[in-house]
Amino acid sequence: MCFPKDEDKIGIRWMQEISSTLAIKRWWRFRTIKSIWADFLVAKYCKRKHPVERKWVPGNSQAWKNILLARDKAEKYISWRINKGECNFWWDNWLGFGPLADYFSDYRTGGGNKVMVKHFLINHRWNMTKLYNMLPGDIALHISTINTGQEDSDDYAIWDKTENGCFSNTSAWHLTRRYRTKMPFLDNIWHSSIPFKISFLTWRLIYKKLPFNKAVVKFGKQGFPTCICCTIPENDSIQHVFVEGQAADHIWRFIGAPLGINHQHIPINGLLQQWRNQTAKNKTVWNIKTALNVAVPNIDFGGNWISTCATVERIKPVQKCTPICWKNPKSGKLKINTDGSFCKTTKRVGIGGIIRDEEGKLVMAFSIPVECGSSNLAEALAVEFGSSWCRINGISDI
Ligand SMILES: [Zn+2]
Repeated sequence: MCFPKDEDKIGIRWMQEISSTLAIKRWWRFRTIKSIWADFLVAKYCKRKHPVERKWVPGNSQAWKNILLARDKAEKYISWRINKGECNFWWDNWLGFGPLADYFSDYRTGGGNKVMVKHFLINHRWNMTKLYNMLPGDIALHISTINTGQEDSDDYAIWDKTENGCFSNTSAWHLTRRYRTKMPFLDNIWHSSIPFKISFLTWRLIYKKLPFNKAVVKFGKQGFPTCICCTIPENDSIQHVFVEGQAADHIWRFIGAPLGINHQHIPINGLLQQWRNQTAKNKTVWNIKTALNVAVPNIDFGGNWISTCATVERIKPVQKCTPICWKNPKSGKLKINTDGSFCKTTKRVGIGGIIRDEEGKLVMAFSIPVECGSSNLAEALAVEFGSSWCRINGISDI
């Protein structure tokens, strides 16, 4: 179940993958956001070594172990942009090809854990003499091309797995999840226009995961031996109920015949494939296009069935807005506005209304609980109450 829909499962996420995703998120937050929690972990576990080089040792907490496991997946996708130059010279990936410490072991002589990028800057420009003394010429030259940013801004981290550089759970999930071969035809099952329960039913049908006799018997239960879809009951199986039974046969033919598709008693997967590959009859396409042109004029639905479908999917309902406001009644008349409401669960019903004169001044208002069985009836009772009140008080001009 726990694979994306186009990888032949139903898109539920595996708990273990969610847990790994959240561990990666913790590592990202630990590395990039200042917090009491991050300071605590650094003080407890990373006094002498940078978090990137720190190894787990027995005695450290399990939570710290999980964070370090996430580090191995996540750290290579975190890169840094220099501003103040406070990121670590040896261990932070500010060069774009991983930490410098991966390439040189000499850093320890210079106290690698504490060396910052700003120690190699003078007046916010690269101190080339120091760089050439410390590193091979080609690396020093490469560093000289890196932008040193704004002196008064903080360095910031970039998450390489998203386009905007911000961390996202989805991108982290893709780092941890298992992959399967994509099955493009499954896009048709999980189409946005098809209700979920129908998509799910089709998926279960294709993978034979419906509770028919064969499946039920596996669980030690006695299935129904015969179907209920034929005049003379036959063996109850997926193939029978969905393809060969009287009811199924009638439905396939009823819908397929106008489209020029002959129903054959072949396995359900082949049948669906046959429908997918079938070109509908020109006459049917023409009829549908004519109906579409009436419903949505001024749109060209293209020359063939596929382009017609593509155009229909792009059509969005046009929303019209009409402002409605209360207007004063004509001179010498009164206006009644009423409302009724009905609550299905509590069966409570209420009516209300207000009567105003030509200047909009209040003449009478009411709000009363009543008894009835529907919202329409409540609306009618409200109107009736308002008009009766006028009649009793001798007002006829409403
Ligand atoms: Zn049957």
